[in-house]
Amino acid sequence: MSKPPKTPRTTPLKPETRLVNAGRDPQAYHGFVNPPVYHASTVLYPTAEDQVAHRAKYQYGRRGTPTSEALENALAEMEGEGCAGVALLPSGLAAISTALLSVAGAGDHILVTDSVYRPTRVFCDGVFKRMGVETTYYDPLIGAGIGKLFKPNTRAVFTEAPGSQSFEMQDIPAIAKVAHDKGALVLMDNTWATPLYYDAFEKGVDLSIQAGTKYIGGHSDIMFGCVAANAKALPALKTTVYTMGLCVGPDDMYLALRGLRTMAVRLARHNASGVQVARWLAQRPEVLRVLHPALESDPGHAIWKRDFTGASGLFSIVLKPCADKAVHAFMNALALFGMGFSWGGFESLVILFDCAEYRTATTWAPGGPTLRFHIGLEDPGDLIADLDAGFAAMAAAR
Ligand SMILES: *Cc1c(COP(=O)(O)O)cnc(C)c1O
Repeated sequence: MSKPPKTPRTTPLKPETRLVNAGRDPQAYHGFVNPPVYHASTVLYPTAEDQVAHRAKYQYGRRGTPTSEALENALAEMEGEGCAGVALLPSGLAAISTALLSVAGAGDHILVTDSVYRPTRVFCDGVFKRMGVETTYYDPLIGAGIGKLFKPNTRAVFTEAPGSQSFEMQDIPAIAKVAHDKGALVLMDNTWATPLYYDAFEKGVDLSIQAGTKYIGGHSDIMFGCVAANAKALPALKTTVYTMGLCVGPDDMYLALRGLRTMAVRLARHNASGVQVARWLAQRPEVLRVLHPALESDPGHAIWKRDFTGASGLFSIVLKPCADKAVHAFMNALALFGMGFSWGGFESLVILFDCAEYRTATTWAPGGPTLRFHIGLEDPGDLIADLDAGFAAMAAAR
């Protein structure tokens, strides 16, 4: 017996509901809740006629499987109205480089925020330069002033908000308006807020990138990236991904899809705990500044409040000037914060960083040593107690 027809909905479903149901059709796979994982290269055609005509829903593993289709559909559902499709990539950096390759080529010029994720800069200064694409870095706070940096061959503006490690907020709607008036596309690295807390398409972005390694995966056990595009940018994106032979392993696609189901609740917890820990750090005598756009004291707070619906668990602090030995003592004393790159998993992390050496359009002079925290899903009181012990060890090392 088949199910009775469903009553059509009049109100759109909320993101939390969409994440649970997106890309899933249990009746298409014997009623099991989750889609099966297809490990596949060759797809067999039933007849010679079908083979000659390439007549099949799926033609070859690299071109797409029911697993990649389920993940693409689920990711597209997470994005806002303006999303026309999603491409899957084997890492966040691959998503960035592929999106860039789809918008510029020899003889073109692009504008990239000075606060960009460092490997994006390395791509522009290396591969893109060698290809004949010129990059100009701009002040992340430039806003509509970006107009003066355009050249006749400027094809794209790359944005990232907040800035990588340094957390400057960008006025992306203002930048997008100028870029579109000049016929350029806008790319955004939206890994920090994710589409759940920043509707990139509504803000004027044409290509929205996520390092799925972070909050989509959510468990520090996969490498994955994706690019969502509007109708204008999607054809070139899909052609670039296909031509470069890029695809994601089936098990990582499955884990990304699995991560999506709990992403909204995980993010809500990262958000709340992150703000709680950031506020606690802000009142510590050892701390000069907290770089977290959801805090009222942050210079980017007004833009964050206007454009974002939440914050994730990643932020930085500037310590008052002190010896390396004292900072190392603080970090070494932490029992609940691992020291490692990447973030977005269930666990808390800390790294010591310095953006000063590679900035070119702006000067990074925070006034003291800088630490980046990822606040995980642990009890925030336990994390604060751990940080308190870290400051005690820091005082003892002075
Ligand atoms: C981690 C990260 C990336 C790169 O993602 P990988 O999956 O590690 O390649 C890109 N952008 C931002 C903002 C990141 O934090």
